[in-house]
Amino acid sequence: MTVQETIDRCVRCGFCLTVCPTYAIRHDELSSPRGRIVLADAVVNGRIAPSLQTLDTYSECLGCRACESACPSGVLFENVLLYGREQLVEAGATLPATAAVVLWGIRSPLQLRLAQRVWRRWGRLALRLARRLPAVHPALALMRAAPEPDPQPIADSPSPEIVIHRGCMMDVLWEGTNARAVALLQDTGAVAGRLPIEAGCCGALHAHAGKSDVARERAKATIEAFEKSGATTVVSLAGGCGAHLQRYPHLFEGDEAWRDRATRFASAVRDISSLLVERGFAPVQGETCTTYQDSCHLRHGMGVWREPRELLEASGRYSELPSAAQCCGSAGVYNLVHPDVAGEILAAKVGEVTAIAPEVVVTSNPGCELQWRSGVQSTELPVRVQHIVDYLYEQRPERGT
Ligand code: SF4
Ligand code: SF4
Repeated sequence: MTVQETIDRCVRCGFCLTVCPTYAIRHDELSSPRGRIVLADAVVNGRIAPSLQTLDTYSECLGCRACESACPSGVLFENVLLYGREQLVEAGATLPATAAVVLWGIRSPLQLRLAQRVWRRWGRLALRLARRLPAVHPALALMRAAPEPDPQPIADSPSPEIVIHRGCMMDVLWEGTNARAVALLQDTGAVAGRLPIEAGCCGALHAHAGKSDVARERAKATIEAFEKSGATTVVSLAGGCGAHLQRYPHLFEGDEAWRDRATRFASAVRDISSLLVERGFAPVQGETCTTYQDSCHLRHGMGVWREPRELLEASGRYSELPSAAQCCGSAGVYNLVHPDVAGEILAAKVGEVTAIAPEVVVTSNPGCELQWRSGVQSTELPVRVQHIVDYLYEQRPERGT
């Protein structure tokens, strides 16, 4: 669907305004989904000249897609946002140095391997040093909240039918989580392993930064690695990546051969929670009190929100976080680009956690986990923050009986 077709679907009803985090903060139409759609219409049709000033609202948008779930007309707002971000890049927008370094570092599988080795070797020391320093910069606050290096032996099944998408930051900071996801799937009888290393980053962060050429390059590498693997299903442990993997066909409008391959690939993408539920994974019932932070793209992009809750309810006591469906402020590298807005959103959520007092805040996206760990660390809240795979691994029947 083209940007204009997306824009034309909007009937300007305003239902989306009630769920938009930036509209809630700014109370300004231009900071709302409807305002951003009206602006895109004006830019596409030449009524407003694109510039850093006129397009700034696309930088401020979290890209959380909550507006899509609220929209009765089925507007795929993501199309508008990516158009706006591309226009921003063409107008000369640049990212803060920390975000630019992240995007550069994850671009090549070789660089990711190097980062993985460095983190294994020096991660503990880096964390000790970072935690002694005051969190004077948003990047340092996130760094202090990073998990300890966690390399784990992974027994990939030979010729796996189901492969884990290893991701970029996941494969460096959450190596152990990837390994535990393979083990959980194998517990259900799956012939499971990981996507070959050449796949690297899926390109979601690049696409959301308006760098569509790099996003296409990463998509091609991921599709080729999946085809070579011979697997029939690729599983995402990060909502932001999973929704982007399912969106690959949109990257290849006008390129029929790659579009067909991307369409076949997209139909094979699943998320870990819904697959575990489908395959009958049943955690051991305990007493742990959990709450859950939705991954925006898992919920609003992939439509998965029931299954993680089903698994948590089956594992112990579950309390719903009132704002669980709303973004935590992580949003890719948003917390590095707009730390003030991201911090304001997170502070309100940390207040909710204080009220319901769970033992564990569970997430389905590494970026959300890092954002929450940072919020919990800075407020010294006595709760753990875990990826759903790590939490469920502790509740495996083999371990709990
Ligand atoms: S809810 Fe949908 S149709 Fe209504 S203003 Fe928002 S995007 Fe447009
Ligand atoms: S993606 Fe999120 S922040 Fe952006 S307009 Fe939609 S609801 Fe608002």
